[in-house]
Amino acid sequence: MTNQKESHLPHSSMPVIHRSPWVISGLTPDVQGAPLGIIEDGALVVAAGLIQAVGKYRDIAKEFGQFHTREHGGRVLAPALINGHCHLELSYLDLANKTEGQRRYSGDPTAWIRDLLAAREKNSQETADAEELILSHARQALRQMSAAGVAFVGDVGNALASRSIGNEQRTRVSFLLELLGLTKESAEKTFARLENMAAPESLLIGCTAHAPYSTTPALIQEIKRQAEHKDHVFSIHVAESAQEVEFLQSGTGVFKEFLQDRGAWDGSFTIPGKRSLHYLDSLGVIDDKTLCVHCVHVDRAEIEILAKKKAKVCLCPGSNRFLGVGKAPVTEFLAHGILPALGTDSLASNEVLSMWREMRLLRESQPELAPQSVLAMATHGGAQAWGTASEMGSLEPGKKALILAINCGENIGTSNDVFEYLTTAGESVQAEWLE
Ligand SMILES: [Zn+2]
Repeated sequence: MTNQKESHLPHSSMPVIHRSPWVISGLTPDVQGAPLGIIEDGALVVAAGLIQAVGKYRDIAKEFGQFHTREHGGRVLAPALINGHCHLELSYLDLANKTEGQRRYSGDPTAWIRDLLAAREKNSQETADAEELILSHARQALRQMSAAGVAFVGDVGNALASRSIGNEQRTRVSFLLELLGLTKESAEKTFARLENMAAPESLLIGCTAHAPYSTTPALIQEIKRQAEHKDHVFSIHVAESAQEVEFLQSGTGVFKEFLQDRGAWDGSFTIPGKRSLHYLDSLGVIDDKTLCVHCVHVDRAEIEILAKKKAKVCLCPGSNRFLGVGKAPVTEFLAHGILPALGTDSLASNEVLSMWREMRLLRESQPELAPQSVLAMATHGGAQAWGTASEMGSLEPGKKALILAINCGENIGTSNDVFEYLTTAGESVQAEWLE
């Protein structure tokens, strides 16, 4: 799909053995508790940018002993991270660091949307080269993620400006253009735009719908139909706040007021009278290529729909905490066989775009989760969500050598210590790419 490219990592075609006290292979991600495979005194064989073999060093040495061995004493080898949900184009707003955050929004997402739209309008009116500002901040945000060990970003944007920035960097970016429209007039405009997107010269641009409260059902269905046709992920924000659910169920609350204030309400949208996931399922858009972002306010029946349809889920703990919208029912997802992805969302609703910090926040807010499960979400979960699991998300033979070498400090005695460190150290994790 969009912006796919081959890795530009320098690599030799001669196999090299990488030996480490701990190799996190992720070979057996089993959703119930999602234990990741970890090998003590392990080794990986890498050639031509691909993983050829993984196992105990003694077994690898027997089979591949003629090749050079690089020792990574004191460092753990782990799969690179996958950011399942981001809006790189919003990096310039840095709203989360400019406002008082949680206290100010305290769970009302419409207050945040108002600030976001105001900041965006101010920039486009007052900045001489608004697009260049957006691009330079998006590039910088991506560079930082890349340096911190992120191999792939699932990116969503309202404009096409930032769509190709992944081509310049090591981290691969899959970009989707986000569309919306709830009034008759705005929906018609978006339909016209969609029609253009179906033209042959736009075939590489994938589109996605913003949210069930901002987009008409016919638009959501058409965007999903095009996503199917172009064979890419259909990502949509779902059940982020209690207010969204209230609006969809009863047509009341802050979302209604917000839409009216914005002139985005003409009465043509029929209130579905259903919770978010029930509603989207009734539109026929929930399947194994639908990525439901947030899923904070979903009940058991909705989780059963997600599980039955094999839909993908992406959690954004940092953004959810910043907006004060609540915590997703992660234990229930895992119990239903759903391994969610993790995403940073944007710098408009998160202080920093760090996947290490997302893991730390999730561990803090939901200490009952196993550290292995949390690391599996930030790796394999993201790869599954974006359909890239045959290439990345774990260190298995045949996958790309997207490998991080990490010094986990002095106190690593057991494999559990490794997982504890990686999921609680946050931004202090120093990940180096294995070249
Ligand atoms: Zn988002």
